Amino acid sequence: MGQAASLITRRSALLAGAAALAGCGPPHGIAGDFAGAGFARGHLLREARAWPAPAVTRRTQVVIAGGGIAGLAAARALRQRRIEDFAVLDLEDTAGGNSRGGELAGIACPLGAHYLPVPGDAAREVQDLLQELGLRRRVHGRWQYDERTLCHAPQERLYIEGGWQEGLLPVAGIGATTRAQYLRFGEEVEAARRSGAFRIPLRSPRQLAPWDGQTFAAWLDGRGFTDARLRWYLDYCCRDDYGAGLATVSAAAGLHYFAARHGFRAPDADAPAETEGVLTWPEGNAFLARALAAPLGERFGPGRVVLRIAQQRHGVEVDVWDVQRAHVERWQAAQCIVALPVLVAARVIESAPRPLLERARGLRQAPWIVANLHLRQPPSEPHGAPLSWDNVVYGADSLGYVVATHQSLNPAPGPTVLTWYCAPGEAARGDVLQRPWSHWRDRIVQELSVPHRDLARQLTRIEVTRHGHAMPIPTPGVLSRLPGPPATSRLRFAHGDWAGYSVFEEAFTLGHRAGRDAPR
Ligand SMILES: Cc1cc2nc3c(=O)[nH]c(=O)nc-3n(C[C@H](O)[C@H](O)[C@H](O)COP(=O)(O)OP(=O)(O)OC[C@H]3O[C@@H](n4cnc5c(N)ncnc54)[C@H](O)[C@@H]3O)c2cc1C
Repeated sequence: MGQAASLITRRSALLAGAAALAGCGPPHGIAGDFAGAGFARGHLLREARAWPAPAVTRRTQVVIAGGGIAGLAAARALRQRRIEDFAVLDLEDTAGGNSRGGELAGIACPLGAHYLPVPGDAAREVQDLLQELGLRRRVHGRWQYDERTLCHAPQERLYIEGGWQEGLLPVAGIGATTRAQYLRFGEEVEAARRSGAFRIPLRSPRQLAPWDGQTFAAWLDGRGFTDARLRWYLDYCCRDDYGAGLATVSAAAGLHYFAARHGFRAPDADAPAETEGVLTWPEGNAFLARALAAPLGERFGPGRVVLRIAQQRHGVEVDVWDVQRAHVERWQAAQCIVALPVLVAARVIESAPRPLLERARGLRQAPWIVANLHLRQPPSEPHGAPLSWDNVVYGADSLGYVVATHQSLNPAPGPTVLTWYCAPGEAARGDVLQRPWSHWRDRIVQELSVPHRDLARQLTRIEVTRHGHAMPIPTPGVLSRLPGPPATSRLRFAHGDWAGYSVFEEAFTLGHRAGRDAPR
């Protein structure tokens, strides 16, 4: 166990003790449930059963298997080429995959992804999308983003040593040694940024090889980055972006988070880190998913579990389980864009290409829990930094919560939804599958009652979304060495898994390119 991990365990025990002292018994009065379709549909693939013969056969030019961001981006790219004869098939009832959104007591909230950093120069495809959606425009030669969408201040705060501080990098009560390590780490990030290897989307993954052979923890050890607060912060950032901590992800991934996406701003640094903020919506990135899905109409097929994809001489055959009608539907198409997680793709494609099998074997997947908490009033706290968009508790196992109503321009405090995130680690996948929703309720109330003593009184309902195989973990070797998406005469591949880590920009760009390059 690394230093940061043992620190976290000790802090969790202290937090649990503090909650018990605060008199927080099990909050049985709080209603709740799981949200989303659950695991049953995805796990149909694990049943070794003979599926009935197709009850119906349909024809289309292109089948897009999977309606997450990658699949939706592929559909948009086909439409840009005036290819309108396609179908997007997904096992969920709504499009968006990890970027779906929901609603709790009439308040929109995310079920997964909740923000997109202002895209850098390399993410041209994402910039085009934002322009098309009217979210950015050129004013006096400079790009401006929609003010309603740029995250409003205050953006982030951290609960540490009994109070809230501004920002997530611990600064409360730090000494000269911590400050010096922050500064030195900032210099390392700057050097990594200048190397040109770190960019989103990844262009030449092999350029990351010098950083990709060891874990981030080993890399930090080798450079004497031992400060507990710095290590906690870096571990938090890795868990937040990759679902796994610094003892698991590669140094390339650990640096990528800062050098390509978020920057690192040491409190004593002369120059501010070059970041332009983040775009967010009450329903999170479901705003983007819905905008992408809107033009599809009947071409989006919900409740369709892809069971089999078979390449044939004159086309491709895709068999799906239609959940509502409880029958097998056969799709015959000229092409299939496989926008499924690689684990699923490797299972359903007959005679799967070798690079797909290698990628599926080489990837570990992080489970996630996302819980939406409906409160009568925002949590009250008289001291310290005010309620922010992103609120994190130092030392907690979770990743804190975002406030779904943060972008609202209504100044009157009223009911709100907090979206709580947790990447409990691969070993907890069984828990994610088996624990009742009330397990998460009790855990959340215990954790958040420390900074918010009145939480249990304000809470009316909790809805828990489980993501069993949510995202690929960029362990050493994944970013630079695993094969990229293959292409056959019938199949194109698109999914965040092919980047080795999952963010909107990568999923969207991979999907866009698959749709752009699919043969007519
Ligand atoms: C909790 C969480 C929070 C995140 N937060 C952010 C964030 O704030 N910002 C960010 O940029 N990224 C975030 N991400 C990363 C997110 O995964 C990507 O942004 C993006 O949504 C990935 O899209 P995708 O198309 O690659 O994958 P997916 O979302 O995995 O899409 C795959 C699709 O395939 C479908 N599918 C799977 N199996 C089958 C089958 N057998 N038949 C039919 N359909 C099937 C799924 O239902 C899904 O719709 C987050 C991820 C998680 C899990």
